[in-house]
Amino acid sequence: MIQQNRLVEEFIALVQVDSETRFEQDICVVLKEKFSRLGLHVVEDDSMAKSGHGSGNLICTLEATDSNAAIPTIFFTSHMDTVAPGKGIKPQIGEDGYIRSNGTTILGSDDKAGIAAMLEGIQVLKENNIPHGRIQFVITAGEESGLKGARAMDRSVMEAEFGFALDSNGSIGDIATAAPGRAEIEIIFHGKSAHAGVNPEDGISAIQVASKAVSRMSLGRIDSETTANIGSFSGVGPLNVVCDKVKMEAEARSIVQHKLEAQIAAMKQACESAAADAGTTCEFHADIVYASYMHDDSAPIVQLTSRALATLGLTARTFHSGGGSDANIFNGMGIPTVNLAVGYHEIHTTKEHIAISDLVKTAELLVALVKEAANV
Ligand SMILES: [Zn+2]
Repeated sequence: MIQQNRLVEEFIALVQVDSETRFEQDICVVLKEKFSRLGLHVVEDDSMAKSGHGSGNLICTLEATDSNAAIPTIFFTSHMDTVAPGKGIKPQIGEDGYIRSNGTTILGSDDKAGIAAMLEGIQVLKENNIPHGRIQFVITAGEESGLKGARAMDRSVMEAEFGFALDSNGSIGDIATAAPGRAEIEIIFHGKSAHAGVNPEDGISAIQVASKAVSRMSLGRIDSETTANIGSFSGVGPLNVVCDKVKMEAEARSIVQHKLEAQIAAMKQACESAAADAGTTCEFHADIVYASYMHDDSAPIVQLTSRALATLGLTARTFHSGGGSDANIFNGMGIPTVNLAVGYHEIHTTKEHIAISDLVKTAELLVALVKEAANV
């Protein structure tokens, strides 16, 4: 059913439209045209002002084949932006069946492989008169800059009951059923300046206070589900002055939300106790930029995905991802979402590549998921 040549042509066309994150305007125009031409209702949301990116997110809706059938609304999501260097991509089709860049840029299969699979899948559904419910294709901007597009999306645009991100590493059949939530933390330690030689006893060294706070923290790998890291530590001043200010930036991640919260609380306690011991204060700000998610292998969405894979002769393999994706945001909205491998390799490097056979499998999987959802 999949037309491999059409799919590869579409993929090649998509990656040649520059779309480095924050500069999504051109790809957004192209995608609006492509999804509209296939008969979908296309809306660009109003997230651009909030995200500061080149476009909003696109919500492209394919109506149900039978509006009276009780088939749940589902969604698929991919992102339209890429990392740098992503300007002037010249894709090369190798004799080994892989598509690569010319070595000076990334390829952009992260995540245009997902978008190409959507466009092919929609055509296959139509050409074969496959019954389906309403489907939302959600193409986000700003994924690569910290999920900014999805984070700025209004929950009310999402009608789907569950869905699938097409944006994971791994082999086709790999399902990221869990991913950590992440907190960004900024801490300011206040000290008191004094002459370092004349009257140091009148000062409070913010550097010493901050160092004590760090020494009281558990950092690195906390447990199999939780990590924490100090990314920067800055206290700058002349040698002869007791330093009165240190700024630290840190992050914490956990697949388990309460563990993330506990790690943040422990880091806060370490800072506040070190400051109090020295007779001073600190300001501790933690922002959970996205929540964690975790689906059991027995969860309906995982079971449905496994059944769809089985119809293609593929084996499901669930795993816990170490990084966040837009799937975190949609799960945070209360819409069960798993992140599916699309077969790209060495993403975010100039060696990025993808097998044509995996592009085909991803489009086949999309169609199989739509069919399986219609059987529920
Ligand atoms: Zn991606």
